[in-house]
Amino acid sequence: MEDPKKPEKAHVLVLPFTGQGHINPMLQFSKRLSSKGIKSTLITTIYISKSLKTTTIATHYGPPIQLRPISDGYDDDGYHQAESTAAYLDSLRTNGPVSLAQLIKKLSEEGDPVNAVIYDGFLPWALDVAKQFGLVGVVFFTQSCTVNSIYYHVQRGLIQLPLMGHGSTTVSVPGAPELQPWEAPSFVHNYGSYPFWFDVILGQFSNIDQVDWVLCNIFYDMEKEEFSYIIVLFGHGFRPTVPSYYLDKRLEHDKDYGLQLLNPNTTLCNNWLDSKPKDSVIYVSFGSAAELTEEQFKELAQGLKNSQHNFLWVVRESEQAKLPNGFIPETSGPGLVVGWASQLEVLANEATGCFVTHCGFNSVLEALSLGVPVVGVPQWTDQGTNGKFVEDVWGIGVRVKVDDDGIVRKKELQECIKEVMEGEKSEEIKRSLSKWKKLAKEAVDEGGSSDKNIDEFVAYLAEMQNVRS
Ligand code: UDP
Repeated sequence: MEDPKKPEKAHVLVLPFTGQGHINPMLQFSKRLSSKGIKSTLITTIYISKSLKTTTIATHYGPPIQLRPISDGYDDDGYHQAESTAAYLDSLRTNGPVSLAQLIKKLSEEGDPVNAVIYDGFLPWALDVAKQFGLVGVVFFTQSCTVNSIYYHVQRGLIQLPLMGHGSTTVSVPGAPELQPWEAPSFVHNYGSYPFWFDVILGQFSNIDQVDWVLCNIFYDMEKEEFSYIIVLFGHGFRPTVPSYYLDKRLEHDKDYGLQLLNPNTTLCNNWLDSKPKDSVIYVSFGSAAELTEEQFKELAQGLKNSQHNFLWVVRESEQAKLPNGFIPETSGPGLVVGWASQLEVLANEATGCFVTHCGFNSVLEALSLGVPVVGVPQWTDQGTNGKFVEDVWGIGVRVKVDDDGIVRKKELQECIKEVMEGEKSEEIKRSLSKWKKLAKEAVDEGGSSDKNIDEFVAYLAEMQNVRS
């Protein structure tokens, strides 16, 4: 652990895309850098920075993380102000680079020059800005190596879309298991859906050949061969970004990510969970972005009620009107519905017995690292591929089947919950989880694969700083 008063080895800007699932791993990575003597400045948007009421995040074991904003073009109301997602993404692409360049100049004028930009793969323009200033450019992929490898193959024309139109019925990339179409990312198997997102995910590889370092949010054992392929293609770097308290505990105060866009109901959830027996609660969350239909809500609500288990269900306020009438007051006994939770605390609580999740990559990584059995209910984007890995590669849970209308029926949900909590597979899943939990801890602990890798990265940054100064 570094002395907070020692001069920093380098100063990096860390630029996540503006979603909780992107901010969490990149902020967590910044904290690990801080513990190794690197100064990190996390970039938010002007809109987010106004709601935060702070300009630093304390790390307790190194320089605090500074927060600095750039403009996405919607400074008053952020994303909500945009007339569509496509308009928001366009505005970010136009305004982001200009504003980032201004910030880099300003920091230099303030006597706090930057050595490197670590940018979210969704924001490839940041690499162009970094290179304009002669800075080190580092891409951080928030999705799995398999998912990135598939997108890379599509972007380079090595997988042609639509799949069926080119005679393919499955998707294969080096090192990864063969995927049925519905197990591939939704933008690939449902070609033409969300064209503006399709541009974003392929854009990740538009200038990747100029990148200096690649960081992936996994640890080596999770995707050995898929990761090795990424290394062959682009360079090196990997690590999981779950807070230290839940893994190696070397950063003892590091218990949460530290920047929530929605307010969690932490006390209510903890008190409620603490009153429940061990392994009795089904935790349900579909993350920060998924939107479900009313019919899907109805099926999930009935399935949970019929399961005869306690359940804690995160339904964001913007989605709550779709719940069946009277469901929230009705569930005040065995069930609790909240607008947002401190997910890590919920997963770490011994009352939690399984996690019904949309298979967002962070949620899966958290379940794997904290040892909670998964019922995967993938919705879109990379979630189907993550669900495949949950069930068939990592063995930490099962996936639901949807009917012909794409809906998960209540009976299916009940059966999957039963399977992971008390069914034939439950013991096997528990064994896999204890193996993964141990591997995740070893990877980040002193001398582990991720720890060594971060040391290499820190040494590289320090060397680059010396070369320039
Ligand atoms: N999360 C949380 N509280 C909630 C739901 C989610 O803190 O009530 C966190 C969760 O721990 C994870 C992130 O939000 O780190 C969601 O990321 P993920 O990749 O799972 O899904 P996304 O929101 O990107 O779809």
